[in-house]
Amino acid sequence: MRILVVPSRVRVSRLARAATGLSLRGHEVSWWGTPALPRESGPRALLGLHALWGTRAELVVGDADRIATASLLGRQVGARCMVLELGLDQVARWTWFDRWAWHTLHSHGLIAAEAAATFRDRAPSIDPERVGLWPDEVATAPVDAGDPDVEILERACERSLARQRGRAPRPAVFVDRDGTLVREVGYLANPTDLEILPGVPEALRRLQAAGYAIVVVSNQSGVARGLFPRARVYEIMGHLRRGLRSHGVELDGIYVCPHAPEDECPCRKPKPGLLERASEDLELALGRSVIVGDKWIDVAAGHGAGTRGILVRSGYGRDQEREIVATLDERRPEAICDDFGAAADWILAAELDQPEATRAG
Ligand SMILES: [Mg+2]
Repeated sequence: MRILVVPSRVRVSRLARAATGLSLRGHEVSWWGTPALPRESGPRALLGLHALWGTRAELVVGDADRIATASLLGRQVGARCMVLELGLDQVARWTWFDRWAWHTLHSHGLIAAEAAATFRDRAPSIDPERVGLWPDEVATAPVDAGDPDVEILERACERSLARQRGRAPRPAVFVDRDGTLVREVGYLANPTDLEILPGVPEALRRLQAAGYAIVVVSNQSGVARGLFPRARVYEIMGHLRRGLRSHGVELDGIYVCPHAPEDECPCRKPKPGLLERASEDLELALGRSVIVGDKWIDVAAGHGAGTRGILVRSGYGRDQEREIVATLDERRPEAICDDFGAAADWILAAELDQPEATRAG
């Protein structure tokens, strides 16, 4: 996502802290003024109106006390959506112009959990459907890419964009990461070891041009096993995001399971939890979607969620093919392809209920 941040003038809000983390996750963040929490590979500072020239963003995020500024600057850079941190006192002080600003973009709010009960009574002009909650626990540590507040803000932004789209649910291509999009190296723990496989960016571009959302779904049990922290997973995903963006591909979502098999969570593939969560957040049509991966667990997760499944022979795929090709159970894929490029060919050529092309090249 490309995001413009318009923070409060008077405080470093929870939202401003989380917004800093979005750039660590590989999003392209521009900051109106000097970023509150500058970091390496952090947001780009916009100092003065002239800096807006050439800046584009899909979303503006900010604080409720600067809603009018956020809305006006957002419209200036082409944003369609706005995500604000809402405080009861700030909303109570909104003028008619502020309330108008809320409605000029497709707006969503984030509020503290303890304010949720009274918010509906004291802010009746705000549709409860457009409001999400911060986690109960207020983080105080320096923000990192794995921070729960960053996750909440990222999801709020993605949900806002999906709902602004306003059309029927889109089909998606769910993609496993290791061995499918990037070279399999065992537990990938270092961003410099990330190597996007040949043909992947071009294949993703073709799928996006045909109208598919692209959603990465990845088991990362190295977190539960103590091999690397949760933040590292998202730093590496940020590296992937930036790498693909340099080839003209913007990922629609990244969903990670950090648990170990013995945790028996609902999100670790072969369970379909990650796909179901993405479907809810991003308004996806699972029945018209496909999963592509190098293991039977990818195919089974897709089948569990109601998608079709393609096994690729990259990564662990060749060994997996020998194991599963004779089975008739949920592990058996609809197709087995040499690599992700060939899987994209299959998806685009198959008699699927083809999505309407919604993105140009
Ligand atoms: Mg894999």
